[in-house]
Amino acid sequence: MSLTVTDASLDGTLVGVRCVDGVIEAIGADVAAQAGDETIDAGGAPLLPALVNGHTHAAMTLFRGYGGDLPLMRWLEEKIWPVEAKLDDEDVYWGARLAGAEMIRAGCTRFWDMYWHPLATARAVEDAGLRAHVGGPLFDADGRTAEMQAQTLADLEALAGCGAAIAASIAPHSIYMVSEALLRWVGELAAERGLAIHLHLSETEREVADCVAAHGVRPALYLDRLGLLGERTVLAHGVWLDREELETIAARGATVVANPVANMKLAVGGFMPYPAARAAGVRVGLGTDGAGSNDSLDLLADLKHFALTQRHAAGDPTVLPAAEALAIAAGARAPLLRDGAAPTAPAATAAELLAPGTPADFLLLRGDSPALGLGELASDLVYAASGAVVDTTVVAGRVLMRGGVVEGEAEIVARAAERADRLGIGADG
Ligand SMILES: [Zn+2]
Repeated sequence: MSLTVTDASLDGTLVGVRCVDGVIEAIGADVAAQAGDETIDAGGAPLLPALVNGHTHAAMTLFRGYGGDLPLMRWLEEKIWPVEAKLDDEDVYWGARLAGAEMIRAGCTRFWDMYWHPLATARAVEDAGLRAHVGGPLFDADGRTAEMQAQTLADLEALAGCGAAIAASIAPHSIYMVSEALLRWVGELAAERGLAIHLHLSETEREVADCVAAHGVRPALYLDRLGLLGERTVLAHGVWLDREELETIAARGATVVANPVANMKLAVGGFMPYPAARAAGVRVGLGTDGAGSNDSLDLLADLKHFALTQRHAAGDPTVLPAAEALAIAAGARAPLLRDGAAPTAPAATAAELLAPGTPADFLLLRGDSPALGLGELASDLVYAASGAVVDTTVVAGRVLMRGGVVEGEAEIVARAAERADRLGIGADG
């Protein structure tokens, strides 16, 4: 399978991109289509690496608009948990397909997911043509440790049967919902199998206080003590990390994913301390979190919030330049988020991610978008744009959206609405 895009604008230069068997074979001013290639004439439209959503719960699109004005614990206990107990594979599949359609629209082609029925999410990702790191959540605050271990092993076995677009990870929910014994087991299992660990960490100040009271150390140091901090660890949120924790996370090579919009919606009182994380050398990514706590999966829209909240919190408008924010959203500052393989040195710029031999995952932006075309592209993308500027989304050399049209989207929206109604949470539920 081969695809050639011609006349695309990359850092102000018109280039061609030829993709063969899912990988960029050549990119440059003299790259042209060859016989038999599928072709796209970009007409001068900007070319951009695809974005990576570093933390979400895709199927929670079903919960969008359901109880979102309640405080966190009432929302979970009265709204979310009773419905989640009724979820089946088809609910999760169509919720994740809806999330997939939104992410294709917003230029996000790879995401890190934590949710029930992970095989249904994986099936949805494969059918959508996307890529994901998928893990079922582990909870044993209710004492079901052995049951959770058995479920995790079964999920991992099922996910191992998926194609190359799916990477299995182990997803203990958080240090407050998972026992010390189960966390240790996760660390040992991940090390033995070379799997990534994906969990929420230091989202609320109370989590920190409870951890210090129970274990004598702050959350990241507690995780390190249990053997869960390593190059394959993704920590979602990290709002309350202090300097010692950031230095430990950097030394272990773990990744912290900021979720600024979810932090504001749940009013947790702060944001991941990016300037301190950067100074410590922490690998950083950006996520939306689930639609239940955002409610959008538009990472480009969240990028503006990320940049603005960091500038505002630091009292310094130079703290996170637009090009750097864009590189973070593309996964260029946390190689694990992009490929799930052993991390390599972070790429210098988002455009450097589009090199021969890398996965053919990229976007063409709407050349006629009112939000683009004046000033620097990175600045326009961070401060003026949203996912609506994405015209074409390509994953592994396959076109998933062209001209703003996602194949099968009307059916996906209708089927997801049916599943929400079945659960009693839809517009007609
Ligand atoms: Zn989350």
